[in-house]
Amino acid sequence: MRIIDEVKDAKTIAISGHIRPDGDCVGSVMGLYLYLQKELPGAQIDVYLEKPSAIFDCISHIGDIKTKCPADKVYDVYFALDCNDERLGDALPLYEKAGKKVNIDHHVSNTGCGDINIIEPQRSSTSELLYELLDPDRIDEEIAKAIYIGIIHDTGVFKYSNTSPRTLQVAAELIRFGFDFPALIEKTFYEKTYVQTQIMGRAVLESVRFMEEQCIVSMVSRRMMEFYQVEPKDLDGIVNQLQVVSGVECAIFMYETGTLEYKVSMRSAGKVDVAAIAVKFGGGGHVRAAGCTMNGTYHDNINNLSIEIAEQLKNYV
Ligand code: AMP
Ligand code: MN
Ligand code: MN
Repeated sequence: MRIIDEVKDAKTIAISGHIRPDGDCVGSVMGLYLYLQKELPGAQIDVYLEKPSAIFDCISHIGDIKTKCPADKVYDVYFALDCNDERLGDALPLYEKAGKKVNIDHHVSNTGCGDINIIEPQRSSTSELLYELLDPDRIDEEIAKAIYIGIIHDTGVFKYSNTSPRTLQVAAELIRFGFDFPALIEKTFYEKTYVQTQIMGRAVLESVRFMEEQCIVSMVSRRMMEFYQVEPKDLDGIVNQLQVVSGVECAIFMYETGTLEYKVSMRSAGKVDVAAIAVKFGGGGHVRAAGCTMNGTYHDNINNLSIEIAEQLKNYV
C-alpha cells in the first residue's frame, strides 16, 4: 500500500494520534502531515492532537496542530496513527464519521480500527512503518526529521529490542537529508528540565523492589506533581530509569490521574509480556513496553499486577 493511493481523490483529510502523544505519535503524525501538504497542495489537511510537549517545537509546522475538534465535520479520509480508536480521545467522533478510515500502527494489541488497517507489530515505530508507505523521492528534510524523531523515541535511540536492521537502514536514509541528528537526539530525548530531573530522582528514591527483587515499582501522586509543578509529560522516562536497575525483570511506574485512578507504565527485560498484562486491564502496548489506566488504591493496583507478573515468571523457575 502507498499512502498516496488512499488519498488521491480526497479533498479533506485529517490525521490524529493517541492521547498523551509521545515522540513516535508526534513524529508520525507530523511526518504524514508535511508529506500530504506537499503532495496535495489543493486539499484541506487538518491535524487533531493533544498539545505535544515543547521539546517537539523543532518539528516544522508543529503549530498547525489543532487541539479542539469541531463537532460536525466529515473528512474524506482520516488517518489514526500509533493507536487504535480507543486512544483517539476527543478526535474519536470525527474519526468515526469519516468517509474512509485508515489505521496505521505497530502495537501488537491493536486489532485494527479502520477501513484500511496497516498494523505491523514487528516495526520499531509507527514512524518507521509510515516511511515505508511514502515515496522516498518525495521526502524532504523536514519530513525526514519528523520521522527520525519518531523512530529514536520509540527505540530509545536504537537501544530497544524493537530496533531491526531495517530500522537502522531507514534511519540511515533519513540522516542523509542532513539535519542535525545529534542535536535532535539530545534536545528531544535526553535533555530534561531541572524539575523533571528532580521528580525522577524522587520517584527512584521512593521505589520499592518486590518478588525477590525482580520487580520494581514507584508512584507519583497528584500532590507531588503540584509541588514540583509538573505535568504527566514531565514524567516520561521514569519507568525506563527504574528498568535499568540490575536484576529487574519488570518495572512499574504509576502516576495519579484522579481519585483512585492511576496511569500505569510497565517495562520488561524480556521474560514478562507486559502487553498481555496491560490488555487484561484495558490497556495495551508492546511485549516489553505497555501501559493502562487502573482504578483502585496504589497498593491494590500493585497487588493485581503482581499476580499477573508472578503467573508469567512461574514459567522461568
Ligand atoms: P507508556 O508506558 O505510556 O509510555 O506506554 C508504553 C507503550 O504502551 C507505548 O507504546 C504506548 O503507546 C502503549 N500504551 C500505553 N498505554 C496504553 C493503553 N492504555 N492502551 C494501549 N496502548 C497503550
Ligand atoms: Mn506512541
Ligand atoms: Mn509507537
